[in-house]
Amino acid sequence: MEVKTSLLDNMIGVGDMVLLEPLSEDSFIENLRNRFDHNEIYTYIGSVVISMNPYRSLPIFNPDKVEEYRNRNFYELSPHIYALADEAYRSLRDQDKDQCILITGESGAGKTEASKLVMSYVAAVCGKGQEVNKVKEQLLQSNPVLEAFGNAKTVRNDNSSRFGKYMDIEFDFKGDPLGGVISNYLLEKSRVVKQPRGERNFHVFYQLLSGASDDTLKKLKLDRDFSKYNYLSLDSAAVNGLDDAANFRTVKNAMQIVGFMEDEVQSVLELVAAVLKLGNIEFKPESRCNGTDESRIKDKNVTCVYLQAYYARDALAKNLYSRLFSWLVTRINESIKVTRHKVMGVLDIYGFEIFEENSFEQFIINYCNEKLQQIFIELTLREEQEEYIREGIEWTNIEYFNNAIICDLIENHQSGILAMLDEECLRPGTVTDETFLDKLNTICAEHQHFESRLSKNSKYITDHSLPHTCFRIQHYAGKVLYRAEGFVDKNNDLLYRDLSQAMYKANHSLIKQLFPEGNPAKVNLKRPPTAGFQFKASVGTLMRNLQTKNPNYIRCIKPNDKKASHIFTDSLVCHQVRYLGLMENVRVRRAGYAFRQAYEPCLERYKMLCKRTWPHWSGPAREGVEVLMADLKVPAEEFSYGRSKIFIRNPRSLFFLEERRRQC
Ligand code: ADP
Ligand code: MG
Repeated sequence: MEVKTSLLDNMIGVGDMVLLEPLSEDSFIENLRNRFDHNEIYTYIGSVVISMNPYRSLPIFNPDKVEEYRNRNFYELSPHIYALADEAYRSLRDQDKDQCILITGESGAGKTEASKLVMSYVAAVCGKGQEVNKVKEQLLQSNPVLEAFGNAKTVRNDNSSRFGKYMDIEFDFKGDPLGGVISNYLLEKSRVVKQPRGERNFHVFYQLLSGASDDTLKKLKLDRDFSKYNYLSLDSAAVNGLDDAANFRTVKNAMQIVGFMEDEVQSVLELVAAVLKLGNIEFKPESRCNGTDESRIKDKNVTCVYLQAYYARDALAKNLYSRLFSWLVTRINESIKVTRHKVMGVLDIYGFEIFEENSFEQFIINYCNEKLQQIFIELTLREEQEEYIREGIEWTNIEYFNNAIICDLIENHQSGILAMLDEECLRPGTVTDETFLDKLNTICAEHQHFESRLSKNSKYITDHSLPHTCFRIQHYAGKVLYRAEGFVDKNNDLLYRDLSQAMYKANHSLIKQLFPEGNPAKVNLKRPPTAGFQFKASVGTLMRNLQTKNPNYIRCIKPNDKKASHIFTDSLVCHQVRYLGLMENVRVRRAGYAFRQAYEPCLERYKMLCKRTWPHWSGPAREGVEVLMADLKVPAEEFSYGRSKIFIRNPRSLFFLEERRRQC
C-alpha cells in the first residue's frame, strides 16, 4: 500500500499526532514548534484539536475558510478549529446528537477566542433568514456584554475571563438556532476592590469613564479621571491596544441588540458608578466623638480608621457587583431562552492556575479543572475503550492516571476539604484560617495527594519548604501550594444583614431586586449557603449536563509568557502538554483505532474505488466494505470489522483511501 498522498505532502510536520514517529514528548513538542513556526497553529490528536495561541491575527478565519471547511470531513483538509465546529454541527443537525465543545487550557492560551471562533463558524453555516439572524446576533452579542463586566487585564492576559462560562445554543430540527442559555461560574469578585500589581479592575469601569458622554458622566456624578477612584489601580489603567472608549460603544450597542431596554442600561451604569463611589468612602471612628460604636464618613482631618467599616464597605461593593453580573446573565437568558430541541454547549472556563500565591479562588478553579479532567477521562478514554467492547473488537486496556482520587480529596461530602471548610465556617466559637488548617492537617494528612507540615506521609516530613500557613495539593496538573489565609472569610462570603436591608430600602428598583434577602418581611435567620458549597453544586450540575452530550475537545496552549507572537518556549509548552495529559491521549489513540465509520456511509464514500462495488452493491454494507478493502489490498491488520462500524487503525490508511478517491 502506498501512503504518499497530497494530504501528507502539503503538511508541515505531522497534522495528527497519532502519526508521529517516533512518538516521544520531545518529538511531540518539536512537531508543535515546527508547525507553529509555519503558522500552523492547529494539530490533531485524532479528533481532539490542539490550538496554539498565535498572538497575532492570521488570515485563516474568514468567510472563504468557512466555505472551505463546510460539509467536509475532518481528515480531508489541514487541521483547523472550523473542522471540529463543522463536525459537531453536522452530527447535531443530521444525527440528532447533542454536542458539547470543551475548551481547556491555562489563562491566555486562547480559550475565549476559540469559543468565539466556534460560535461564529456555527452562526455562519447554519440557516439564514430574518428571525434566525436576529437570534444569531443576540447570541454573539452576549459576548461583548459579559466580557465588559467579567473580563479584566491580568499579567497573563489583557482580556482575561474572570468567570467561567457555559453556553447552550439551542437548534430546531433543521439545525437553525433558536436561542440559548448561559450559565456563569464564580466571578472573581475580590477584583472589584483590589487588583494585583500590574492588573486592572473589570473592563467596564474604564470603559464607562473613557467612553460615556460628558452628559452621562455628569448625571452619574463621575469624574473621567481614573486616578480619582480608589478601586481602580493606577499603574496599569491604560492597556496597549485596548480602546476602552470604543469598547464602551460596542458594549452599549451589544446590550441593545441583546434586548436590554434603555432604562435597564441606565440602571446598570448607575450600579457601576455606585461601586466606584463606594470605594471612595472613608470612615472616621465615631467613638472618638461620642463614645458609640458607629462609623461616620471620614472628616478629612481624622486619619484613624475603624477597620470593620472598610471591610463592610468592600463586602458591599463586591456583592453589589457580583449580583449585578449574575443579573446580567439572567437578563441575557431572558432574551435568548427557548424550549430545548437540539443543543450545542460551549464551555469556556478558567484553566488550571498555579501562581506564586494561591488562595481560595485558585483552589476552586483548580477543583473545577480536576472535574473537567474527570469528564475527559470518562468521555474520551473510558468511552473509547467501551466502544471497542460494544463493537466486539479485540482490545487490551490501556492504563491511564485517574484523578478521581483528587476530586474525592476536595469534594468528598464528609472528609473532603470543602466539607471541612464548611464545617469550620458553621462551627460556633472562634473560627480562623489557622483552625481550618489544623483540621485539614489532621484529617487529610494521610491522603497521598495532600501535603502539610504535619503530614504523616514520610515523604514530606522533612519538607520544611512548606510554610506554616500553607497546604499543598498534588493536582493532576502539578503541585500547588495554597495559602489558607482568607479561606474562611471567602467561603463565608457574609454581608452584614443591615447592609442588605439598606440596599433593599434603596430607592432603586434594580438594587432592590439584587438584595431580596434585605426585605424585612422575609427575614431569614438561616445562613446563606457558603461560596464553596454553591460552587460545588454548580459544577455538579455542569458535569451532569456535559455527560449527556457528545464531547468535542479543544486543548489550548500558550506558546510563551510574553503575550508575544513568534516565540515558542519549549519548557512552557512541555509543561502544558504534560498537564493536559496529551501524551496519554495520543497513546490511547494509537493503541486503538484512529477512525471509525458506520458501514453504509463508508461504502457509499469509497465504492467507486472497486469494480465489484461500483455503482451498486446489492448485499449487506459490511460485506461490500470487506470486498472493497480486499480489492484495494489494504493490509488486514489495518482494519477491524465491528458490529456496525469499520475501525481504521492508522490515519495513513484513511489518507490512502481519500487520495485514491480524489484521483478517481
Ligand atoms: P484565555 O481565554 O484562554 O485566557 P484568550 O482567548 O482571551 O485566552 O486569548 C488571549 C489573547 O491571545 C487574546 O486576547 C488574543 O490577543 C490572543 N489570541 C488568542 N487566540 C487567538 C487567535 N486564534 N488568533 C489571534 N490571537 C489570538
Ligand atoms: Mg478567557
